Amino acid sequence: MEKESEMNTAPDAGKARPLAGDKRKLIVILSLLLSVGFAVIALVNYHVSKAAIRESIVANELPLTSDNIYSELQKDLIRPVFISSMMASDTFLRDWVISGEKDVGRMTKYLHEVMERYHTFTGFFVSDRTSAYYHADGVLKTVSRDEPRDKWYYRVRGMDTPYEINVDPDLANKDALTIFINYRVLDYQGKFIGAAGVGLTVDAVNILLNKYQQRYARTIYFVDPQGKVVMTGSSSGLQGKDIRSLPGIGALAGRMLQKEGGSFQYEAEGSSHLLNVRYIPELNWYLFAEKNEDAMLAGIRHTLYTNLALAFIVTLIVLLLTSLTISRYQGRLEVMATTDKLTGLANRQAFEILIGQMLPEAERSKKPVAALLMDIDHFKQCNDRYGHLVGDKVIQHVATIIRSTLRQSDIVCRWGGEEFLMVIKDCSREQGLQIAGKICDAVRNAPLQLDGETLNITISAGVASGFEEERLLVEADAALYAAKESGRDQVKAA
Ligand code: GH3
Ligand code: MG
Ligand code: MG
Repeated sequence: MEKESEMNTAPDAGKARPLAGDKRKLIVILSLLLSVGFAVIALVNYHVSKAAIRESIVANELPLTSDNIYSELQKDLIRPVFISSMMASDTFLRDWVISGEKDVGRMTKYLHEVMERYHTFTGFFVSDRTSAYYHADGVLKTVSRDEPRDKWYYRVRGMDTPYEINVDPDLANKDALTIFINYRVLDYQGKFIGAAGVGLTVDAVNILLNKYQQRYARTIYFVDPQGKVVMTGSSSGLQGKDIRSLPGIGALAGRMLQKEGGSFQYEAEGSSHLLNVRYIPELNWYLFAEKNEDAMLAGIRHTLYTNLALAFIVTLIVLLLTSLTISRYQGRLEVMATTDKLTGLANRQAFEILIGQMLPEAERSKKPVAALLMDIDHFKQCNDRYGHLVGDKVIQHVATIIRSTLRQSDIVCRWGGEEFLMVIKDCSREQGLQIAGKICDAVRNAPLQLDGETLNITISAGVASGFEEERLLVEADAALYAAKESGRDQVKAA
């Protein structure tokens, strides 16, 4: 009970250092937990999104692209096939051929009429008897077995089906890539007499391919059964290439060029490609719709980086706040551990730290310090008469007088119950005596007014001067004892 403040402070001694270590450990663990946690969440998120996007591309987007292009193509092809069929069964055309192809003007007029009426790109008839290639402007040429460009005619001549769809450059139209409907024309006995039909440019399809390519960042091309890229959007750079010789895709070409089509994935030039293949029976081509995974992942990769950056910022803020909070409480704890609650003076623990800094400095500068130990006279009686609360007020009162008499750089410590210890820098025994006397006078001359009562307080002091802690304390204590012995309210030096 008597040495309460001493008991409070002693067990806390030396706790400040492990606290700093604990803080560092906590910050490290916290930053690891937060950064690993955030990174795992961001990466899991990225991979889940990636899988979902890939799934949607493979299952929906690419097949949908193929479907759209296919239906567009069919729409473009149905009419020309119908027109060609009408031409092949047209009585005028057959009669004109059977009766010896007399008036070329009538045939060209007829073809011109077809072109005009149906807005086809071109209309033609090739006679089997004369090998003449008729076209809206006249006889274009004579087809020949030796001419590679005329191969199609001899193929149509020998085929079993009534017509074929063929894609070739059109000689009559600056070699523009054209889809021809080649219909077999038979006489009334069913004998082959020539091929008729119309051609349409693939511009519409081309525009579609370009549109898809640009808007949806995918590559679209048609591949013939031999693996040659026959048609593609303008920017793919694949035109005329053999897919078997392309990196990544080449190895899969055999499996891709199957009529049932399917979804494929291949790696080329460091990135992953998703590919949908669909067979177009009308053209005997395969439609390839392809998407580079890197392009499709750009968005979610951006999200990943944003998430990581946000996580980094949040981690930093949490760590900063944690560090600040810990520092604040650490500071408070330190103040609490080194300050006497009743008087606000330093306690014994703080005294040890302060004296540990002051004495070596005094040693270096060869200037002694003075220790002043003071004790309130007959304090027990004061407690007994007025109670402990008033006793506390007396202690606070004396502490205030002492603190106000000394400089900030001097050490003032509540040493025990109603005992104070002061250590003054660069102070001889005589100067110490003087200062102690001044404090004694000040206390004596400042009685405490309490509820109309005046409490006269006196204190006794013991003074010692030197460089060594142990000795200073022993000597000051002895001097204080002497002052008490000599009748109190006075100062003695060792
Ligand atoms: P002396 O003149 O010889 O110093 O006589 P004293 O009565 O002051 O004797 P002593 O210094 O031994 O008495 C200290 C008393 O102070 C005993 C204890 O009850 C009282 N005391 C110690 N700490 C406190 C405190 O924090 N508050 C109050 N009110 N009393 C305290
Ligand atoms: Mg005492
Ligand atoms: Mg006393």
